[in-house]
Amino acid sequence: MNPKEFGGDSPWPTIFDAVGFGVILVDADARVLLWNGWLTRHCGVNAQSALGQSLAAVFGDGVSPSFLAGLRNALHYKLPVVLSNVLHLCPLPLYAQTPTSATALRMPHAITMTPMVVSPWGACCLIQVTDSSRAVSREKVLQRHSERLNREVMTDSLTRAFSRGFFDQFYQQEFALAQRQGTRLSLIMIDVDYFKNYNDAYGHPAGDQALIAVVKALTATLLRATDKLARYGGEEFVVILPDCAQYKALAIAEQLRVAVSALKWPHRQSGISDQLTISLGVSTLESCQTCSAAMLLGAADLALYAAKSQGRNCVHYRSPKDAPAPV
Ligand code: GH3
Ligand code: MG
Ligand code: MG
Repeated sequence: MNPKEFGGDSPWPTIFDAVGFGVILVDADARVLLWNGWLTRHCGVNAQSALGQSLAAVFGDGVSPSFLAGLRNALHYKLPVVLSNVLHLCPLPLYAQTPTSATALRMPHAITMTPMVVSPWGACCLIQVTDSSRAVSREKVLQRHSERLNREVMTDSLTRAFSRGFFDQFYQQEFALAQRQGTRLSLIMIDVDYFKNYNDAYGHPAGDQALIAVVKALTATLLRATDKLARYGGEEFVVILPDCAQYKALAIAEQLRVAVSALKWPHRQSGISDQLTISLGVSTLESCQTCSAAMLLGAADLALYAAKSQGRNCVHYRSPKDAPAPV
């Protein structure tokens, strides 16, 4: 039977033309035996031109090598082939509407190839083509949502510094990396001085504005993209400085202290100044295989405590080797 005679008076061609997906039947030489209207609408080639032609000739350069390889496998090994739109976005030159220009965007689609034996042609392969643009755009929306959610979880909503959750995760990663590579890692713990008094004097909303201003000043002072400032809790902040020696970390801590002083943010109930100030505790991991992440953090906290007890508005240092072992 000539391919063009497929169906004769049978209703099959009409049914195939009515379905909302592409249907192609090819013989063992990949020549087209059946071609439905959906394909004509989405690639501009009608059944008259396609029937009897090889698929490579019908689609020309627009067909992807993965499609041709899949078809060869399906015909040769008689095994079904699936080209999902995750790995193969647009294997065929198909468009939402019949293409009017060479720059028209292809329509994402998924392809299933099912080898079968059909009388009178013998070995054939049924190719089903499904429009997956809905699934692809749904995936993009979901991905955008998940990225936004991720950003929100990583960011402190008041100050826009990194969140405590981000710090906990990032710090563990950076600590493990530093230990593995034998690089240095510094931490700076920061606490605003007499901040309870600030709230009492100016009110909680003004306190919020002061915290936002402090974070802006701190962020502007940190120049390396690898240095991360996170809100540790309340009016306490922490800076992670990867690959940073003790003397550099102390210099950066001093710059941070000066940056907040330079804000000249009035604080009439501070115990040490008439402006807002911060105290800072620094600790550096430097060739210490027995030190843990908790010890480095504990040492920075002890250094902050020392800065507080020795007058505030200053920087102190503690080595993680001197930190008490965690319980
Ligand atoms: P010190 O110099 O010893 O650190 O004194 P302090 O008053 O800063 O210390 P304390 O820990 O007693 O008080 C911290 C205050 O920070 C208490 C709390 O109300 C305030 N605080 C914590 N988070 C926020 C916030 O998000 N907004 C405002 N406005 N205040 C906050
Ligand atoms: Mg505090
Ligand atoms: Mg404080």
